[in-house]
Amino acid sequence: MKLSFFGAARTVTGSKHLVELQSGKRILLDCGLFQGRRAEAERINREFPFDAASIDCVILSHAHIDHAGLLPKLYKEGFRGDVYCTHATYSLSALLLMDSAHIQQSDVRFVNKIRRKQGKPSVQPLYTEEDAEGILKQFVGMPYGHRFSPVEGVSLEFRDAGHILGSAHVVLTITENGRTVKLGFTGDIGNPNRPILKDPEKMEDCDYLISESTYGGKTHEPPDESKSRLAEVIERTSARGGKVIIPAFAVGRTQEIVYAMDQLWNEERLPHIPVYVDSPLAVNATGVYLSHPECYDKKLLDYMRTDKNPLGFERLSYIRDVEDSKALNSTRMPMVIISASGMCEAGRILHHLKNNIEDSRNTVMIVGYCADHTLGKKIVDKLPEVRIFGETYPLRAEVVVMNSYSAHADEPGVVSFINKLDRDRLKKIFLVHGAPDRQELMRTALQNAGHRNVEIPEFGETVEL
Ligand SMILES: [Zn+2]
Repeated sequence: MKLSFFGAARTVTGSKHLVELQSGKRILLDCGLFQGRRAEAERINREFPFDAASIDCVILSHAHIDHAGLLPKLYKEGFRGDVYCTHATYSLSALLLMDSAHIQQSDVRFVNKIRRKQGKPSVQPLYTEEDAEGILKQFVGMPYGHRFSPVEGVSLEFRDAGHILGSAHVVLTITENGRTVKLGFTGDIGNPNRPILKDPEKMEDCDYLISESTYGGKTHEPPDESKSRLAEVIERTSARGGKVIIPAFAVGRTQEIVYAMDQLWNEERLPHIPVYVDSPLAVNATGVYLSHPECYDKKLLDYMRTDKNPLGFERLSYIRDVEDSKALNSTRMPMVIISASGMCEAGRILHHLKNNIEDSRNTVMIVGYCADHTLGKKIVDKLPEVRIFGETYPLRAEVVVMNSYSAHADEPGVVSFINKLDRDRLKKIFLVHGAPDRQELMRTALQNAGHRNVEIPEFGETVEL
């Protein structure tokens, strides 16, 4: 059989790996959108390096857009096979793919407005909401641990990767011409001890492994005593009559923060001020979280014996409507607003920052990773002035940065995950999903742990297994 790397090769985005069997069957592992600078992303996402209609099925590791975001495009180009994933990934993908299609369409409307002024022909969106609806009809949700055969001669089961709700790693058992090969794919591996989610499960033993390598060379700092710090910040800010503004990713971080506040509320450690989750996507994602208890860790299941709704408490309101969101601007009383996006690059959070960042009574609390050059990073760096919607605002609000749980395992995490596999069986590891320098460091770490054959494939590289 052949394995080709058509994404997340020497980069962290656009995950896509093609398995071609001698029978002619073709299985695609993930179908992620490449995210990056506009021109480069446009070039990479516009055309598949394979015939979409020739793919028999897709195995989807999790719902993040850099792993699932080109599925509507695959549908648009003629793919009509099944997309296999866990039930929770199916539910989250339904939200995220429709959201992504909406963004693609409104992006193109904006670009075309400019192009029209320049006398240039208009461009088409990468895909539309109809394409997203089309591919979602082809999804097949599977429980964790249930063995199935997506095409003849291949079987697999999803095991929990502990990365986001529904995330999974897989080992494809492939039998052709009397020979059996086991090909593992980590997807993205999470950290143990995260709130809500289970720890990553042990992977099945395999002959070949495609592994992520995002944090090669890095060891995560232990997360803050988040709950206590969260309580302190809210108490302090409300005592001086201010608002706490928390930019957070709609899927994952928002639910972790709400769960922490829910516990604080039950412990009577939160002041009696209103708390708002202001992001339609976060509201919908929270609904998905609540309907997939099969993904919860034991701690959360135990907690739910006394609190049936771990993502809801008396003072908490979820806001979908834009008018309700705007109404928060004119209210001057202390409150907590959790809104997307996490790096402050888009979404309703921009309005909340614009309205509150100049007031020294307020606090902006950064609870997740912010990439360089993002507004979030400028706030983390406490620049005296920041630009929002093209205007300059002095940053006078208090800035609190919480070192929270990363969604990705660090280098020791990945090495110990792989160390649990049968070494005599594991012939080769292919590192994907990492920047080149991180990948080199991950390779060295794995070699130091005794894994000799570690390769870093290039985009478009094909290997015979
Ligand atoms: Zn991911």
